[in-house]
Amino acid sequence: MDNSTRLQYLEAIGIDVWVSRKKSSENILDSFETDLQENETIINGLDLVEENWSALEKEVSECEKCTLCNTRTQTVFGSGSFNADWMFIGEAPGQNEDLEGKSFVGQAGKLLTEMIRAIGLQREDVYIANILKCRPPSNRDPKSDEIKSCQAYLQRQIELVKPKIILAVGRISAQTLLDSNKSLSKLRGKTHQLNDIPLVIVYHPAYLLRSLLEKRKAWQDLQLAIKTYQNV
Ligand code: URA
Repeated sequence: MDNSTRLQYLEAIGIDVWVSRKKSSENILDSFETDLQENETIINGLDLVEENWSALEKEVSECEKCTLCNTRTQTVFGSGSFNADWMFIGEAPGQNEDLEGKSFVGQAGKLLTEMIRAIGLQREDVYIANILKCRPPSNRDPKSDEIKSCQAYLQRQIELVKPKIILAVGRISAQTLLDSNKSLSKLRGKTHQLNDIPLVIVYHPAYLLRSLLEKRKAWQDLQLAIKTYQNV
């Protein structure tokens, strides 16, 4: 008895017959095609994301929007995982970063790596960027026109990473991202929002290297960040 006759018999005596979609070769082909289309969509999406990142990095490397382009060795774009849940945003490249082209590579960078480890992650798991992509001469504070010129680059990095939490590293970063003049002590210790992304402020590692007494407070900041992340 062939399958379709058997089905008719079973239906006639009131037995519901469940037929696996995968059993029909036509369906197998259909679902294979759907899988292929879905994979193609994913691959196209990944290509697009990569193209966006490369285009942005190239744009930054050629930037001449402010005078820092005259004194930089090179731009410092940012580094880490494009899909990071955690995004760390510092102030601006220092001397080591300007020479190496990578964010947070000096002594402060080593301490930042320790801070990242303290929350149970590796540097490669997070994305690290700065408010400014070029080093201000003698590591002076960024000027407001420099911050304005660079703002759109960071904005696009945030849009591409889509982090679940942002850590503003230090006063300049916190004040810039929150558009506030309040002191760091007034701003830290609570969870802020940046375009619906929770933002926690942490002490700048360069500051912590100078004031070891604040290390306990730095750990409090990190604990707040972990708690905030667990609630998103
Ligand atoms: N300080 C920062 O804020 N960013 C760096 O990349 C290095 C030092």
